[in-house]
Amino acid sequence: MEGLPVYWSDPTRTEFEVTVESCRDAGDHFEVTLGESVIRPAGGGQAGDRGTLVADREVRVLDTAEHNGNVVLITDEPVQTGPAVLTIDAQWRRSMMRNHTAEHLFVATLVHKYPSVRLGYIWIDGERGTVEVSGHLTEDDLFDAERRVQGVIARGLPVQSTMVEVSALDASVRAREGVRSRSGRVRVVSIGDYDRSACSGTHVLNTADIRVFKIVDYRLSDTGAHVEFLTGDRAVARLSHVFNEVLRRKYTYPYELDQIGAVLDKGKRAVSEHTALREKVMGLLRSGPAVERIGNTTFMHEFLPGFDAKAMRLCAKSLRLGAPSAVLFFAPGRKPTVLLWTDGLPHGASHYIRDAVVRLGGKGGGSREVFTGGFRETSDDVALFEQLVESVRHTLNADVRVTGT
Ligand SMILES: [Zn+2]
Repeated sequence: MEGLPVYWSDPTRTEFEVTVESCRDAGDHFEVTLGESVIRPAGGGQAGDRGTLVADREVRVLDTAEHNGNVVLITDEPVQTGPAVLTIDAQWRRSMMRNHTAEHLFVATLVHKYPSVRLGYIWIDGERGTVEVSGHLTEDDLFDAERRVQGVIARGLPVQSTMVEVSALDASVRAREGVRSRSGRVRVVSIGDYDRSACSGTHVLNTADIRVFKIVDYRLSDTGAHVEFLTGDRAVARLSHVFNEVLRRKYTYPYELDQIGAVLDKGKRAVSEHTALREKVMGLLRSGPAVERIGNTTFMHEFLPGFDAKAMRLCAKSLRLGAPSAVLFFAPGRKPTVLLWTDGLPHGASHYIRDAVVRLGGKGGGSREVFTGGFRETSDDVALFEQLVESVRHTLNADVRVTGT
């Protein structure tokens, strides 16, 4: 690899004797140029190297950029020209190598499944990787790709780079738009027999070095996906943190770890039901309960978000409206539930409501005094409630016509 920068031929080397050629005051930072090409500037979707530079004093290298074809070290303090020792931040570099190689594996995996997928925006730094790909992808596609990438990491495939004449690039090499129309040579990074891609970034020497690949965020649209991921120590730390947040609550709020998705769904539903219930209570405080007289029967009906059959039963029991009376409570939600509690009516509770429940797609039963019915999820709980109320009202009215009371 003669003539190629050392961060390509030996990306694990991080200590160099260098010559500081110039140092320019750029206001809030200093720009230092070296005589040697040993540190990688930001470019090709990858952040610049960081580190320290020791000459007359030790200064921090905050970033590395390319200005008009020259590699420039961004430092926080000025440094004398002449000999110096450059130490590249090995953790930041290594994390970029892991993230960049993982990006190749992830995009290649999507392309294997959907050959029309193309890589769009990309940003790799020492914290995380961010990629945007085109194509109509689902979250299952992303999670399936994550699992496959983990498999390739475990296979320990060698990562090698070669310089190839652009004219010799065949279709099996992934390359960004415009690369094939250039002249000269490009660097092709090969990961075992899994992927070949034209790239100027830094990469691990073996996929086993990535250790862990974990998607930590994603957004899907009709035309593509935005994905953020972590690798190595950072992925492990994040996985441990999230897992332990769940584990910590296993005994204070008992549930099985595998049920965490259902628990979160339930929590979300509880919050929205609580909001609806609070609005309901506010409404009741303003207008009073919905009670009407039909003949000498008291008929009360309420829409009760957040209640279940048991809570409605307790509530109806404690009302003590006196006979004759009928109480209809309705709890909306994933499985809407209706309760009809009767006291001193000429017929059993089911006489007043069963037909309507069945007609509206539900089923139920109970004792002489109480009928409980359930429905499948509906898009309009309020309409269902109103139809039930209207139907019970109609049947109670029929009693009045028959008995005259
Ligand atoms: Zn790369």
